[in-house]
Amino acid sequence: MRLILFDIDGILMASSGVGMRALGRAMGEVSGIDLSLLGVLPDGKTDPAIVREAFELGGLAPESWPETERQLFARYPAYLAEELAAPEARVSIMPGVVELLEHLAGQREFHLGLLTGNLESTARLKLERVGLSQYFPIGGFGSDCHQRENLGRFALERARAHYGVEYPLERVWLVGDTDRDVQAARALSARVLAVATGRYTRAQLEEHLPDACLENLAALEEVLQVLAG
Ligand SMILES: [Mg+2]
Repeated sequence: MRLILFDIDGILMASSGVGMRALGRAMGEVSGIDLSLLGVLPDGKTDPAIVREAFELGGLAPESWPETERQLFARYPAYLAEELAAPEARVSIMPGVVELLEHLAGQREFHLGLLTGNLESTARLKLERVGLSQYFPIGGFGSDCHQRENLGRFALERARAHYGVEYPLERVWLVGDTDRDVQAARALSARVLAVATGRYTRAQLEEHLPDACLENLAALEEVLQVLAG
């Protein structure tokens, strides 16, 4: 059996800053920090890591971080749902993703999951918005741990429990769009397909030595050749 763990933002879908806008609204409300002024790049970071970086840059006293973070994440999902539902929200599925997921879901050899820095609740909101949530019964999420490198273990454990099988680590693939996805795969001793549909070019991703690197997921045969390799 093979386990394929997909990142969400920059891989399955693009949501043009919708998540950061919602996070920024929640952050402004609970801490007074204006996230949009801090220049925090979300790429490949977990939501808790983004929030802590903003707290630090915004000068929030460290002793108040845990409670402020708790209040912030209590508000964030409702704002995200609102932003995702707004008529002006630009949310789209990446090229080839639906065809790829349909194909993999129809193969007995492949099991699917998520590995994302989103909280589990907000990961589901994003995926439901574009109709992709049902492909992923399990995952590792930013709500499990603020360090992305640790999320693979959560995803793998849940996959074992859900699908009832063991996965040799050389048959576990992460699919991601940043160097942090590559590092998360290394931390799990899994393999990684880097795809240049996020902020980074193929050349930039290749510097981090992923097992495979593609421009996008549009060429089904090409992607399958990697994931079955
Ligand atoms: Mg990503």
